[in-house]
Amino acid sequence: ETIIRFVDVSKVYPLPAGDVVALDHVDLEIRAGDFVAVMGPSGSGKSTLLNLIGCLDTPTSGTLYIKGKDIGTLSDDDLTRLRRDHIGFIFQQFNLIPLLNIIENVEFPRVLKERRSGCDEACLELLDAVGLEPELHTHRPTELSGGQQQRVAIARALINEPEILLADEPTGNLDTHTGEGIMDLLTQMNRRGKTIIMVTHDTNIAAYAHRRVHIVDGRIA
Ligand code: ADP
Ligand code: ADP
Repeated sequence: ETIIRFVDVSKVYPLPAGDVVALDHVDLEIRAGDFVAVMGPSGSGKSTLLNLIGCLDTPTSGTLYIKGKDIGTLSDDDLTRLRRDHIGFIFQQFNLIPLLNIIENVEFPRVLKERRSGCDEACLELLDAVGLEPELHTHRPTELSGGQQQRVAIARALINEPEILLADEPTGNLDTHTGEGIMDLLTQMNRRGKTIIMVTHDTNIAAYAHRRVHIVDGRIA
C-alpha cells in the first residue's frame, strides 16, 4: 500500500537574488511500513523533501499524495489536521519544551489535539517502550542526557499514534553508542508498523533503513 507518492514534484523558493530550485521534478513512492533513509550533500533538498511530506509546505508544481490526499488541494486547516493526526517529527535538536517536565512534553501534542491532559496508560506504555525510567518522568529536559532527551522526543512524536514518523538527523547530536540505541528504538517502531523517513549524512545510520534514497541538486539520484 502506497502511503506517500511524489509525482513530478518541484519546489522552488523565490528569492530576490533568483529562484532556488530545492526539488526538481521528483518522483518517489513510499509504501506503508517502509524505513527510508534520505541521503545527499548539504543543500541538496533533503529538508525540503521532509517538510513537504510533513505538510509544513506544499509543492510549487507536481502532485504530492499523502495517504491518498493531494496535499496541494488541502486548506491550511486540513494540512494541520493531516500533520497532527498522521505524522510525527523527530529532530536533531530534540526540540523539547524546557519549562515542561518529561511527561508534559510527551503529552503536549495530545493536549493540542484533544484538549485533554493526564498521563494515561498509553502515555506510560510509550515512555516505557522508549526506555525512560519512571524516576525521570517529572524531570525537566535539561536534566537528561542527549540520548534520554531523544527518547522523550520519540515518545512525543508517537503519542497521537501517527502512521508516519519523520526524522531529520535523529542521531546528529549523539555519540555513536547512544545513536545506535536510538536507531534500535526506531527499528523497533518500524517493526510495529510505523513508516519511517529519516534524513542522515551518516552511512552507518542509513544502514538501519531498508531503502536509501539519494538526492543531488534536488533530484533523486
Ligand atoms: P538539505 O536539507 O539537503 O541541506 P534543503 O532542503 O534545506 O537542503 O535546501 C535545498 C535548497 O533550498 C538550498 O539551496 C537551500 O538554501 C534552499 N532553501 C531551503 N529552504 C528554503 C527557504 N525556506 N527559502 C529559501 N530557500 C530555501
Ligand atoms: P539541514 O541541517 O537539514 O541541512 P538547513 O540548514 O538546510 O537544515 O535548513 C534548516 C531550515 O531552514 C530548513 O527547514 C529550511 O526550510 C530553512 N532554510 C534553509 N535554507 C534557507 C534559505 N536560504 N532561506 C530561508 N530558509 C532556509
